[in-house]
Amino acid sequence: MTSIRVLSVASEIYPIVKTGGLADVVGALPIALKAEGIETLTLVPGYPDVLNALAELRVVFECPLFFGGATRLLRGRCGELELFVLDAPHLFARPGNPYLSPEGTDWPDNGLRFAALARMADNVGLGAVASFVPDIVHAHDWQAALTPAYLRYSGRRRPGTVLTVHNLAYQGRFPHQLLHEIGLPPESFTMHGVEYYGDIGFLKAGLQFADRITTVSPTYAREIQGDEQGMGLGGLLRGRSSDICGILNGIDTSVWNPATDPHIASRFDINDLDRRAANKAGLQQQFDLEQKRDAYLIGVISRLSWQKGLDLLFENLPTILDEGMQLALLGSGDAELENRIRSAAQANAGKIGAVFGYDEPLAHLIQAGTDALVVPSRFEPCGLTQLCALRYGAVPIVSRVGGLEDTVVDADEATIATGMATGFKFGPVTAENLADAIRRSHAVFRDRPVWRRIQTNGMSTDVSWRNRASRYADLYREVTGLRRG
Ligand code: ADP
Repeated sequence: MTSIRVLSVASEIYPIVKTGGLADVVGALPIALKAEGIETLTLVPGYPDVLNALAELRVVFECPLFFGGATRLLRGRCGELELFVLDAPHLFARPGNPYLSPEGTDWPDNGLRFAALARMADNVGLGAVASFVPDIVHAHDWQAALTPAYLRYSGRRRPGTVLTVHNLAYQGRFPHQLLHEIGLPPESFTMHGVEYYGDIGFLKAGLQFADRITTVSPTYAREIQGDEQGMGLGGLLRGRSSDICGILNGIDTSVWNPATDPHIASRFDINDLDRRAANKAGLQQQFDLEQKRDAYLIGVISRLSWQKGLDLLFENLPTILDEGMQLALLGSGDAELENRIRSAAQANAGKIGAVFGYDEPLAHLIQAGTDALVVPSRFEPCGLTQLCALRYGAVPIVSRVGGLEDTVVDADEATIATGMATGFKFGPVTAENLADAIRRSHAVFRDRPVWRRIQTNGMSTDVSWRNRASRYADLYREVTGLRRG
């Protein structure tokens, strides 16, 4: 097997900087790919948290990029991850969320900031660092998506390019006046280039120029080629249909392992599910819920945004309360939704509990203690929380969209009888259908042996990166072959 060198380019990476599933994937994939003979270096922006987290930092390249201010490329490592860091203090020396100012709005220069990331990736792709000249440049989401465009317009011999769409809803659209400043040639501003409805479309540019496009589940790969889920890019994506594939995300099964998890009250495994009870009790305590062993407890771990469909869950509050269920929600995001949830929790103390903010240890405790985990997304490229739920014996209740459709097997008579059932699915995504799935799951919950079987089916599902990483390795080999051939 010939070894392949991959430059991965992304705006976040677990465990250093994370706002969502993107970081999990970018952090886990390079490690899983090692077994496939793929050597990955990941280029990320030099936010303060990144610079502080790295060991063995050294300067490997310096260049005056187009925005003034000193710009250096550093190389370092964080655990098993090998990183390139774009050290540009005028763009990235800002603490907190990578995209938002302390007022909660996008940084006004986000176009420049992430064009700089792509421009540096372009430099590395073209051989700026002699010790690491990649065969493949793999860009993730809009923040890195200008990279294939820069490489293309360089007119030079270039590595193969792959773009992964983690969420088509975030497209990175900026005024066309930026074109000159970010060093793209005037001829790039056409509908076959980087132009997107009169602006510069970063994601659009990547979709136009990457040799291959991947997204994070087969169903989402199909959905985004339609007009409804294509979000303005469906036509372009349909035109590139033969270059698009869906590869499911995995999760880091050493971080998400109920047998060794340091964040939970009682560790357990598939043979010892009774030990989950102590986690359920801990969860009820942390969310000020009544200490009832037998109450059906449903959990949520989510960004609070329209995408995630939690407004539909709260429309179903009467069902949850009438049926004597409990709800524990951990989330952050949309302020209006947060207020609505807070009021519901206050009005129904002991039955509905909510914690707002980003809390990784608490997310682990929810997975370990909740009976079911609800993910009622309107669209969901892959979704990671349902994968963690499967691993932790929390039965997922999910909408039939994107990766949720691909990773959960709905419990019905046939799938229960054949030992396939792992959760409950509903669709189309409406409050009524969600209510129906919740009621259906509650009925099965009362039948303990069947419920236990669904839990153990889920825990036996392979949610690791192993098989998924080999799909990326195959893709890299294919694209490398194309370039060499
Ligand atoms: P998205 O990337 O759209 O937010 P995913 O399901 O793909 O959704 O990934 C979300 C990741 O972030 C999961 O690892 C989940 O556990 C985590 N997460 C989401 N919200 C929170 C929160 N409030 N606290 C802790 N972890 C969270």
